[in-house]
Parts: sequence; C-alpha cells; structure tokens
Amino acid sequence: MEIIPKGTKLYSILFMKCPRCHESDLFKNRNPYKIKGFFEMPKSCSNCGQKFELEPAFYYGAMYVSYAVGIAYMVSVFVALMVLYPDFSLILYLILAVGGMLVLTPIFFRVSRSIWINFFVSYDKEAGKLTGTPKA
Ligand SMILES: [Zn+2]
Repeated sequence: MEIIPKGTKLYSILFMKCPRCHESDLFKNRNPYKIKGFFEMPKSCSNCGQKFELEPAFYYGAMYVSYAVGIAYMVSVFVALMVLYPDFSLILYLILAVGGMLVLTPIFFRVSRSIWINFFVSYDKEAGKLTGTPKA
C-alpha cells in the first residue's frame, strides 16, 4: 500500500499502527469484528517502546473523535445519496446511515483511538531502530 506513504499521520490512523514508528499494531487483534479482546491494546509499542496509554483514561478523549467520525459518516452518506440517487427517501437514508453506523462501529471505535493518539504522538523515523546508541 504505497498510496498512503508511511510517515504520514493518515498511514498510522488508517492502518492502526504505532503513531511513533508506524511499525507495530495499535490493537492486539487485527480483526475489529472479533469480539474477544476487542478493546485490547498493547501497553506499549513492541518496536519503539512508545506507550499507547499516555495517561490513565487517555482514551476518554477519543469519544469526542468518535462523535465527529460518526457525524462525518452520516454527512458522507447523505452527500453520496444526493449525487448517486437524488430521489432517495428518508427511510433509505436512515437505513444506510443508522445501519451503516451499527455495522461500522467497531471500525469507528478503533479509528477514533488511532486519530486520538496521533494528536499527541508524532512520527519519528529513527524510532525503534536498533542502531547505535539510543538518543537521550
Ligand atoms: Zn512504535
């Protein structure tokens, strides 16, 4: 996937990678639809050591992101319908918007956490490289 280059925040957000080194996964389980361990994240990055929970209850803030992501989704569905199918009914919109939200919730949840940690941690291309002495 070279469309989204490594080193950009988008890469870390969409592929749910460590925000610092973009190598390890933010979630223990790659499949967001597997219920068991759905919330589980490693304590820190196995590659660069970046902590994934920056402070206690760090991810409460991700709820606001999740709200914004949800609104963005609802608006996108609306715009897509306006363009593709201008005669759409309100019922169709509600089915797509609400149904889609339910189906996509696990993904939105993860993307929101991914966006949230990316507000605070930036990419460091030297992070996690086992060369030379560690930077102070
Ligand atoms: Zn890392």
